[in-house]
Amino acid sequence: MAQTLATEVVEQVAIENGVCLHSIPMRVTDTHSSSAEIVNLPCGSTQESKCPPCARRAKALRAVQCREGWHMEAEPVRAPAEATEEQRRLVMVRAQWEAWRAEAAELGESTDAIGLAIADLDAEIERSGLGGDVLGRAVPVKRTRSTRRRQDAPDLPRRQRSSSTVGRTYAAPDGRAYRPSMFVTLTLPSYGRVRNGVPIDPGTYDYRRAARDAIHFSKLVDRFVQNLRRVAGFDVQYFASVEPQRRLAVHLHMAVRGTVSRADLRAVVAATYHQVWWPPCDEVRYPAGCLPVWVAGDGEDGEGGYVDPSTGEVLPSWDEALARLDADDEATPLHVARFGDQMDMQGVLAGTPDADQRIRYLAKYLTKSLGGGIGAEDHARAAHAARLVEALRYEPCSAACANWLRFGVQPKGAKAGMVPGRCRGKAHKPEHLGYGGRRVLVSRKWSNKSLGEHRQDRRAWVLEVLGLAGEDGGVREVGRYIWRPVPVGDVSLPTRRVRLLREVARAQAWRAHLAELQARAREVDLPPELGEDQMIMASAGCGSAKIV
Ligand SMILES: [Zn+2]
Ligand SMILES: [Zn+2]
Repeated sequence: MAQTLATEVVEQVAIENGVCLHSIPMRVTDTHSSSAEIVNLPCGSTQESKCPPCARRAKALRAVQCREGWHMEAEPVRAPAEATEEQRRLVMVRAQWEAWRAEAAELGESTDAIGLAIADLDAEIERSGLGGDVLGRAVPVKRTRSTRRRQDAPDLPRRQRSSSTVGRTYAAPDGRAYRPSMFVTLTLPSYGRVRNGVPIDPGTYDYRRAARDAIHFSKLVDRFVQNLRRVAGFDVQYFASVEPQRRLAVHLHMAVRGTVSRADLRAVVAATYHQVWWPPCDEVRYPAGCLPVWVAGDGEDGEGGYVDPSTGEVLPSWDEALARLDADDEATPLHVARFGDQMDMQGVLAGTPDADQRIRYLAKYLTKSLGGGIGAEDHARAAHAARLVEALRYEPCSAACANWLRFGVQPKGAKAGMVPGRCRGKAHKPEHLGYGGRRVLVSRKWSNKSLGEHRQDRRAWVLEVLGLAGEDGGVREVGRYIWRPVPVGDVSLPTRRVRLLREVARAQAWRAHLAELQARAREVDLPPELGEDQMIMASAGCGSAKIV
């Protein structure tokens, strides 16, 4: 059958059945029996353009996470022992994947799929409360901040703060208790007038400011949360998503547990700003064609560096440039990011259709890239996007950005081969619109569960409904199995089309089984708006259900 079906048709059928399009085939060897089988691990992409079924699952999972935390009534308490085991497991899996990536790289194979899986895991590990040190990433050494480069304190009332993370309860005259929460939308300022998402006068539209605001947006959001907590008087928790506006600026939708007054919220938004204390970069020192030259280090202290192409003078290092900034009494921040006047806040009650609608709204854009969704016929907006991307091209996106060379400073951690305009940071790419951070921002004490735990919950639900929960719970014993990616060209590996079709057949069997159980026993309780997503989860295949 595989031979007679076109690949596009097979892919379409796979999408309809919730089967991952780019699964990673893994050979799972049982060390007890020495038997092995191939399990297709879903790619786990969150982007609809890459893998619609995986993106759909990711979106559904985020909606669950958002829902569980929003109107929580009791303080989330995390049992430390449980967390430790989860963390250990994650780190073990992470170590294994790292080894496979190294192996694949050595063999000259593509590591894209493995990289995706690792990025997902890293996010999980961070969410589980482990820092960068576990991943072998540099632990940032706290620089002693100069008094000049500190952030000025915003002019806000400071309230006594309790450690509570749940908002107040209000009693209605009829005796019922209400625990309202908020849905907040924060927007960046105007960069010039727009109509239908396009600047009326592109010549005066402030693309540079738009670019810098986007680059530093996540810092601004951090400040907002700090200030909000200070004013609210409790440990405010949030689930937020970063989304594109029609004018291609990012904005933020935030589900907040508990409420503050509208006046307080307004005051916090108005008083919040983020100062960027970076070296100046408004004047081009080294345009293309006469860029600084890398000189390899000699002998023991071995570190190379960039020098001026004509004088041979060594460019200031990142730390030196910051020290200069400290010493300069006249120095001003490179950029100050603030929100615009457009602010929206709505009170939302638990379990109302309104709450459901907001949750869907929060998850709506997560599977689309920020810069996507501009129709081919929409020339004016495409041109607007192109101008913004051009403005981002030489804008330093981080301390380590190659663009610093253009402004006469060595990027942090400078190495050979850095070329301004070719930084690979996310912020410069058209699909990110300058925002290189995460699309979903969830505070530590939101739902008391990591995304992985939410995923496990849903899997457990599906397995229970299918009557599989009893045996091994669909979960493999830790340490018993060895997982290895099947190398490209392995003769025992069926073609991708065949693998897709097999997964489709399996998904259909699961769904049929689930539907049958539902029809038979009415007590199988499907939340109406999650029903279909649960089906999709079920059809994610045994593969993902078995990972330990
Ligand atoms: Zn996938
Ligand atoms: Zn960059």
